[in-house]
Amino acid sequence: MTIPFQFFNYKKGHLESDGISMEQIAHQVGTPTYVYSERGFLEPFLELKKGLNPIDHQICFAMKSNSNPSILKLLKKAGSGMDIVSGGELELALRAGVAPSQIVYSGVGKSADEMRRALKAGIYAFNVESQPELNLLNQVALDLKSKAPVSLRFNPDVNPKTHPYISTGLKKNKFGLERREIFSILENLKKLPAIEIWGVSIHIGSQILSLKPFDEAFQKLSELVVKITPLLPMPLRFLDLGGGLGIRYCSSEKPFSIQSYCEKVLKYFGPKQWSGRILVEPGRIITGNAGILVTRVLYRKKRRNKDILIVDAGMNDLMRPALYGSYHEIVPVQQNATRSRLRKTDIVGPVCESSDCFAEGYRFPESIKEGDLLAILSAGAYGFSMSGNYNARPRCAEVLVADHQFKVIRRREVIRY
Ligand SMILES: *Cc1c(COP(=O)(O)O)cnc(C)c1O
Repeated sequence: MTIPFQFFNYKKGHLESDGISMEQIAHQVGTPTYVYSERGFLEPFLELKKGLNPIDHQICFAMKSNSNPSILKLLKKAGSGMDIVSGGELELALRAGVAPSQIVYSGVGKSADEMRRALKAGIYAFNVESQPELNLLNQVALDLKSKAPVSLRFNPDVNPKTHPYISTGLKKNKFGLERREIFSILENLKKLPAIEIWGVSIHIGSQILSLKPFDEAFQKLSELVVKITPLLPMPLRFLDLGGGLGIRYCSSEKPFSIQSYCEKVLKYFGPKQWSGRILVEPGRIITGNAGILVTRVLYRKKRRNKDILIVDAGMNDLMRPALYGSYHEIVPVQQNATRSRLRKTDIVGPVCESSDCFAEGYRFPESIKEGDLLAILSAGAYGFSMSGNYNARPRCAEVLVADHQFKVIRRREVIRY
């Protein structure tokens, strides 16, 4: 077994981060618990910022990947804006002190109330995904006697070659506007006096491991911009390239580097090609490898051809395996366990669903026993933020490790009997 990332490592036989052992956290905070490394968020963020430094840019962190208030504050302090997808996220971003002028609002189903609140707050732009949404936004802005800054979300019809549930830029997906829809909107723009078209955005999917789909999408976006510019009452101010940069969940995955992504951005939208601003909306690349889920083994069920390890974390805590069949590497917190014989093992949660399974037919140390701690790796993105209360299970705690210390950044929910 290899640990595919650098923020959690074995030291003196224990899995630790920045000198803090997972054993100690589990002892004081209990399990299951999400543990994050502050460096884990900042390193990729700063690398992206550095790579985009040659151009006028704004990073808008896709906060749906992890919206813990302490983490939002951390990223805001490092210079991040936010990409939000609901009124609830708007509220969280504002409470974290993010400037409204650094917030963009994505999503196919914004309600009138959500639009009103975001307009009043003065956000940077709405990424609009349909004609009826644009019509409603126009009405809401008219009622408020204001103007709505808009970027049109273009669906470039490229295949990101990722899981079908997380591809968003194909014609068949519900997201974005087709080319002809964009032209039709622009032809009828005079009927929407409160709408100002400031930008065009794309977001083609998530966990993308090759630069090729980005290359294709950037190309199509550049062509579109040339075609629509003459139709606009004023020049575009920005292009929003979305997120989707993939991370390493297992040792066989080889994602492209952040630097090479930035080079691709510069190739299409460098100072020579584009004079406006560039926005990016990264989520997973910032949060994914910054967090793990620490869980305790409750039982080992011995079967003839495989064993089943039942742990205290369930699909309500980390839904990705149940929702997408996605892979997470799982390692023992005590390193000596990794030296024992391996046995075919399923690692499952306590929730009453067969899909509540973190690993099936995994080759896992036979010596792991009841009471031992395990770490489910690369769980910082779409982990806690997707968690819920199914089976009336309380949501788990979140802990942040920084400067050789740890603090609880969300307390465990408790059941009051
Ligand atoms: C989810 C989402 C993102 C972030 O995607 P990642 O794969 O986590 O980088 C960015 N933009 C939009 C519009 C999204 O819906």
